Amino acid sequence: MLGRHRIRVSGYLRPVPTRNPYPTAAAFLPDKLSMTALRDAVQGCRGCPLYANATQAVFGEGTLKAEVMLVGEQPGDQEDKAGAPFVGPAGKVLDRALEEAGIDRGTTYVTNAVKHFKWKAARGTRRIHDKPSWTETMACRPWLDAELALVKPRALVLLGAVAAQALLGKTFKVTQQRGKPLDSELADLVLATIHPSAVLRAENRDEMFAELVDDLRVVSRTFAH
Ligand code: SF4
Repeated sequence: MLGRHRIRVSGYLRPVPTRNPYPTAAAFLPDKLSMTALRDAVQGCRGCPLYANATQAVFGEGTLKAEVMLVGEQPGDQEDKAGAPFVGPAGKVLDRALEEAGIDRGTTYVTNAVKHFKWKAARGTRRIHDKPSWTETMACRPWLDAELALVKPRALVLLGAVAAQALLGKTFKVTQQRGKPLDSELADLVLATIHPSAVLRAENRDEMFAELVDDLRVVSRTFAH
């Protein structure tokens, strides 16, 4: 159903379709903010069109006491099927990079800016990643805001442009600001770096991986006791 409002034109009312008929995730957030309530509610989210072609919403995972929260873009094919973030090939790159940087993934909270898998069909039955639009990313942000409010991480690591722009604004450029502590009130340390999937796509994988580890080391160095 299209959302509609009316405008007055030369003395009569004309219905005008709104640009975005979806209400954003805000309309689906539970009254009580708890991780259990959020996890239940996200499966019913119809805040943007992405729910329609995904298997399920993939919410964040990890400890509520996490000092480090990592935010990626959206679930991939394997995450969509498993219902967990960063369990596919990019997740394995992330696991290795965290380990080399001296961060135990078991002590982090890992999530995505967008909770449903956006994909397009490829040859056969393959589903390939399709980047979420700005409107879809913003529609999903209330879930991410709720996760931030519950976890209250000391360090927030934004993996890739979609995650970084979702929280720092549309003009933020990861290529220019990666690996540097950013001026933000979202956490004591806010840092952007590449998405681990960029390592998998790169010709110079080893170099890209080493740079990802270097960026993550800023977190472990900052909180080293
Ligand atoms: S992608 Fe986000 S806003 Fe869109 S339907 Fe899924 S949970 Fe809701």
